[in-house]
Amino acid sequence: MISKLNNKELDQKIKSLARAENKLLAIVIEHIKEADRRKLYLDFNYANLYDYLVKECGYPGGSAQRRIDAARLLAIEPKLKAKIESGEINLSQTTLLQKAFREKSQTVTPEQKRSLVAKICDRTVAESQVIISKELDLKVKATTKVTHQKDESVRIEITLTKEEWESLQKARDLASNATQSNDLPKLIKYLSEKFIKQKEGSTATVAVKKQVLQRDQCCQYKDPYTQRLCGSRWNLHIDHIKPKWAGGADDIENLRVLCQKHNHHIYRQQAGIKSISSRTPVGAEVPLK
Ligand SMILES: [Zn+2]
Repeated sequence: MISKLNNKELDQKIKSLARAENKLLAIVIEHIKEADRRKLYLDFNYANLYDYLVKECGYPGGSAQRRIDAARLLAIEPKLKAKIESGEINLSQTTLLQKAFREKSQTVTPEQKRSLVAKICDRTVAESQVIISKELDLKVKATTKVTHQKDESVRIEITLTKEEWESLQKARDLASNATQSNDLPKLIKYLSEKFIKQKEGSTATVAVKKQVLQRDQCCQYKDPYTQRLCGSRWNLHIDHIKPKWAGGADDIENLRVLCQKHNHHIYRQQAGIKSISSRTPVGAEVPLK
């Protein structure tokens, strides 16, 4: 029973399973390589190996593509099998390699490919990316691309210098407690909101905020349909009933306690109203500390 294992045993077990998983993966790759060589997919009426792996073997698309990338690299560098088995190289790395080779189309020699396999052993994915792009002299992309998608989300592709990236990572580490995540979009949201709050936030004094908190005690958000009070006591914020941008004052009658969720909810509603009327960003409220 897994739940009966002590921590040391559990750790050992996971490590030995991970080793077994790598071994099995290396064998899978070897077989896919052979299937590719034989064009086995034709026997099953598929136009290509990818379709065979997805539709016949049940691999999710990304997993199938990573296995094909590794199998085709193995055809060029037989030592790859042992490296996958030992965990020196993983499929994220082999896929990086194959993508880079595709980008350079026919110009990379088999010797160069083998030498790159050796160079990225035991490196992280980020390190491998740097090694590969230096070695193959891949183009540095610097333009920013912003794409608006059908759900109104926005996809941004940006290039940061090494220094910019390092400071962003440092910010991410420092904010990880507050954001509960390593996710970049969450970090950007957190930093922007913090900045906006700082620029436009409440100027109510600490004493006034304390009074409001003592009066309200919990989230005062009322469901517009049932009129039920939220009542949460978790992560409370002070909110301006009439927003500051609309001339709302910092006095106790215009202030109320909201939980984080409802603070954001109200903020979004008000931001929506305001962006129609004036098209400038609106400040959220200052959290109680
Ligand atoms: Zn609430």
